[in-house]
Amino acid sequence: MKKKIVLITGATAGIGLETARQLLQEGQFVIIGARNLEKGQEKLNLLKEYSSDVDLVQLDTTSEASVSEAASYIESKYGYLDVLVNNAGLAKEPRAVSELNLDDWQKTFDTNLFGTLRLTTAMIPLLRKAKEFGNIVNVSSGLGSLNNMTDNSHPYSKFAMAAYSASKAALNVYTIQLARDLEKDNIKVNAVCPGYTKSESNLAADAQPVEVGAKTPVTYAMLDKTGPTGGFFSQFGLQAW
Ligand code: NAP
Repeated sequence: MKKKIVLITGATAGIGLETARQLLQEGQFVIIGARNLEKGQEKLNLLKEYSSDVDLVQLDTTSEASVSEAASYIESKYGYLDVLVNNAGLAKEPRAVSELNLDDWQKTFDTNLFGTLRLTTAMIPLLRKAKEFGNIVNVSSGLGSLNNMTDNSHPYSKFAMAAYSASKAALNVYTIQLARDLEKDNIKVNAVCPGYTKSESNLAADAQPVEVGAKTPVTYAMLDKTGPTGGFFSQFGLQAW
């Protein structure tokens, strides 16, 4: 199989960094997106222990200039992109639902929805030039599933994270609609939930290790051309919207 060029956002920590490591082990070429270049350089050096097929790009998905410069960099250096893993996310919910202010909601949506949308829009022209087919993996969450949220027996129905959950539900809608639109361009779009995973933003003792959390993004980044599009998947298979 030909080496794919994969861009991962938020690859300086948690699930994003581990997804990069696993994809390098799978023999892919990985570009890690880092909003903080110094932290990115540190992680690049670490990843080089696994493979030299790794590059770094400054990428803050909330910044128009950063996204546009990243797209120009990839265009001029590589000319195309096979896989985009939209992993960057913000899970801070600083107040109770009834106390959240507009600024809290906006910060969460700026990264989890608008940031993903901004970057995806900038990368679609490069994904259209993918060698075999383009592939977008949106790292969503089971907390964004209306099914889980309204099922009182589901553990995720106990989480009071309104802005985060709404941002991921909106990301899921974007996934469904974009998948339909991009079918004509030979680009797949799927949403994945990595599962409850230990990371910089989830320090819970009962969370699964990041090596397990990264498996689902890796699986859907590595789809072959017969793979699905427009779906929502967890490590257990299909996830209800
Ligand atoms: P994490 O350890 O906090 O890492 C988040 C990454 O996103 C960091 O690299 C961070 O950069 C980056 N980031 C944040 N805002 C950004 C922006 N505006 N532009 C570019 N990069 C940005 O989080 P994680 O737990 O690995 O989460 C990764 C993804 O999985 C998120 O989308 C999250 O919603 C989803 N998820 C996580 C869990 C879980 O239990 N952990 C469960 C379901 C879904 P810095 O290094 O500069 O901070």
